[in-house]
Amino acid sequence: MSTYQYETKSAEETMSFAEKLGSILQKGDVLTLAGDLGAGKTTFTKGLAKGLGVTRTVNSPTFTIIKEYSGRLPLYHMDVYRLENSDEDLGFEEYFSGDGVCVVEWAVFIEDYLPEERLELVISHKGDDEREIQLKPIGSRYEERVKEIM
Ligand code: ADP
Ligand code: MG
Repeated sequence: MSTYQYETKSAEETMSFAEKLGSILQKGDVLTLAGDLGAGKTTFTKGLAKGLGVTRTVNSPTFTIIKEYSGRLPLYHMDVYRLENSDEDLGFEEYFSGDGVCVVEWAVFIEDYLPEERLELVISHKGDDEREIQLKPIGSRYEERVKEIM
């Protein structure tokens, strides 16, 4: 399975790349999103939400584990950081195989519940406003999505 890279030079570029991805996602798609604080995870998710037709403002879900937004498809934005050291199951299976798209931050903390097939995204700082978005599709449906937007 290949890994793909996309470089952006501004928050706007990250948003529009994410928007393109959001516009082709389908029901049941699961994305994991990693990167340091300030890398652009929330910025990326805002763009993705726009592409999914979400009109409400997307914020960092830090104090809520799962935030739901309605759009062309529902978007479930999850930040499972607070589940570190707990193997609490909040009904993830239903979200992952459900009617919408899931974006999971700190997915490593719920590794056991993650579907085997998913699109793993990692955002890294390259400079002040430069970021590298690494895309690792696991499974042919995700490979297709990535090829469509690159
Ligand atoms: P995270 O959720 O990963 O902590 P945020 O998306 O909240 O990160 O913050 C990223 C910050 O970096 C924002 O202030 C954004 O405007 C800025 N930024 C600058 N360049 C970029 C870029 N190329 N892509 C994404 N964000 C960028
Ligand atoms: Mg954030």
